[in-house]
Amino acid sequence: MDALNVSLLAARVLDGEELSDDVCEQLLLDPQVDLLPLLNEAYTVRKANWGNQVHVHILNNAANGKCPEDCSYCTQAKNSDVNIEEYPMKSRDEILAEAKLAYENGAFRYCMVFSGRGPSTARTAELASLVRDVKALYPLEVCVSAGLLDDDKAAVLAAAGLDRLNHNLNTSEEHYAEICTTHTYQDRINTLRAAKRNGIEMCSGLIAGMGEPASDLVEIAKTLRELEAESIPVNFLLPFEGNELVTPQGLSPQYCLRVLSMFRLTNPTAEVRIAAGREFHLRSMEVLGLYAANSLFLDGYLNAKGETANRTYQMIIDAGFEIVSDFSAEQLIVEADAHRSSSPAQQESAVAVRGKSVIKTITELRPSL
Ligand code: SF4
Repeated sequence: MDALNVSLLAARVLDGEELSDDVCEQLLLDPQVDLLPLLNEAYTVRKANWGNQVHVHILNNAANGKCPEDCSYCTQAKNSDVNIEEYPMKSRDEILAEAKLAYENGAFRYCMVFSGRGPSTARTAELASLVRDVKALYPLEVCVSAGLLDDDKAAVLAAAGLDRLNHNLNTSEEHYAEICTTHTYQDRINTLRAAKRNGIEMCSGLIAGMGEPASDLVEIAKTLRELEAESIPVNFLLPFEGNELVTPQGLSPQYCLRVLSMFRLTNPTAEVRIAAGREFHLRSMEVLGLYAANSLFLDGYLNAKGETANRTYQMIIDAGFEIVSDFSAEQLIVEADAHRSSSPAQQESAVAVRGKSVIKTITELRPSL
């Protein structure tokens, strides 16, 4: 590999240059590329586009399990033996009550996630009606993740005011058949293009650590750039005994930070999010992720516990970043503290998420019941 002048990277990216595949791979693998100078370049690009803002996303696992697909990393897949709390779609009242909680807990964006291959026409109409209701009640940006969609269904959601559709690429085209056999990479691309054609912003990301070579991560980053993805969740594989794919591969905290930096430098204006595995894989380096990413999930992931909300908020503030919310940082911490002291499960999670992946309890999945 030729020596790379890291100190010029941000200026090149901000000038509109697309970094070559070789350079991107070098960012991930070359020991001559020191981590802190690389993060500094990523931060310069982040700051130029997003300042010091942090967008907080809160997920609602609105229908858990019972999925006919076989995504090997997923606790809801048909062939997963992970003991999750399964339930059909939550009621409208429950979803709206949880939207209120998310707003009061500082969410900028509320993401409703429905397991399954894709929604029927009737289910799409139901989702559209939910999107309308949430947006009428709370000043939240709304995102839906509901599997495969065609143009007609995307149009129904767009007409309801859906801001974003989440549909992750997860891995490269070449590697796709190794992680899922019930749908294809192309199915996923088609869904993303349908959303885009109908004016819905695109949220699409990846899961690192599934045995892919670094070049695959570069390919995903470049594909998302070409698709003009507005939002890129960067997940790091969480190990769950009972999933087909259990053991994360090659994920040191430093490698995770290189992945986040590479995504920032290839997709300079995108909302790059530190998603699942933030606590588990970044560990003591967690806050450094915010120098590349401008967004994170609060309160865990679909079935996995995350760090407590108050610790996450404190981390953001301590590093000098600003939470984008109608509430002040102090209010958010007080609210999160009150919630934590009333929830034994939350008290436990701070310790647990750093040592092993922990499944959410039913009270965490359905806090408004
Ligand atoms: S389609 Fe979604 S819910 Fe179903 S197994 Fe795949 S990732 Fe999990």
